[in-house]
Amino acid sequence: MTLDFNHTPSFADRVNETVDAALTAENATRTPRDYLGGSRLGHACERALQFEFTATPKDAGQDFSGQVLRIFAIGHELEELAIRWLRGAGFDLYTQKGNRPDGGQFGFEVARGRIRGHVDGILAAGPEGFGLAFPALWECKTMNAKNWRACVKDGVAKSKPVYAAQIAVYQAYMEAQVPGISANPAMFTAINKDTAELYHELVPFDAELAQRMSDRGVRILGATDAGELLPRVAANRDFFECRFCSWAERCWGLPT
Ligand code: SF4
Repeated sequence: MTLDFNHTPSFADRVNETVDAALTAENATRTPRDYLGGSRLGHACERALQFEFTATPKDAGQDFSGQVLRIFAIGHELEELAIRWLRGAGFDLYTQKGNRPDGGQFGFEVARGRIRGHVDGILAAGPEGFGLAFPALWECKTMNAKNWRACVKDGVAKSKPVYAAQIAVYQAYMEAQVPGISANPAMFTAINKDTAELYHELVPFDAELAQRMSDRGVRILGATDAGELLPRVAANRDFFECRFCSWAERCWGLPT
């Protein structure tokens, strides 16, 4: 192999770097969350959720790259498309309070605002013959082809337990604002980012899961208030979650 010590960045490299720099600079101006995201409660590791909740600085090099920020943005835009597609197919889908652009997203706050969630949408009506009951929670995710196929094969609860936990928690916490939402199955939409295929699943309310996740949230808040760090999810740093954790250096550098 010949090492090229005089590598000159290509046109593409330079444009990409400029785009990435703008994206990461914009992201750096965002105020970090000061609450525990209801969508995150199903994450495998309670300690990682504590780091997330307390906005603990990530390990060096773990801040979101331009590419990751683009992945998030593309997911958001695809969700907007899914909303249009479903409405076009006759689903009465509300994504803003009052369905006005300025109405604000549906969402909830519990534990004095320290646990919050924002809802993708609420179905108020839809075409006959699908076994839907209303109101129903609507949750949309985008996935690469491999994850999407796993979701189609095994269903959301088995293939994406974090999403299943989110759905259960949202159904439970939205009940006060939207009576009946927890009695009806949620509709889950998964978009295959590689092929544009769609998957839909009806997800019945799992009260036991919602309670477990709610207890988890209380445990995380309580431990954080007490200045305690919850146990690691694994005994070994090679564990799958740890390999992809943004706080792995910090976590495994601690005595316990
Ligand atoms: S490194 Fe592993 S145990 Fe530590 S916070 Fe991250 S996921 Fe949890």
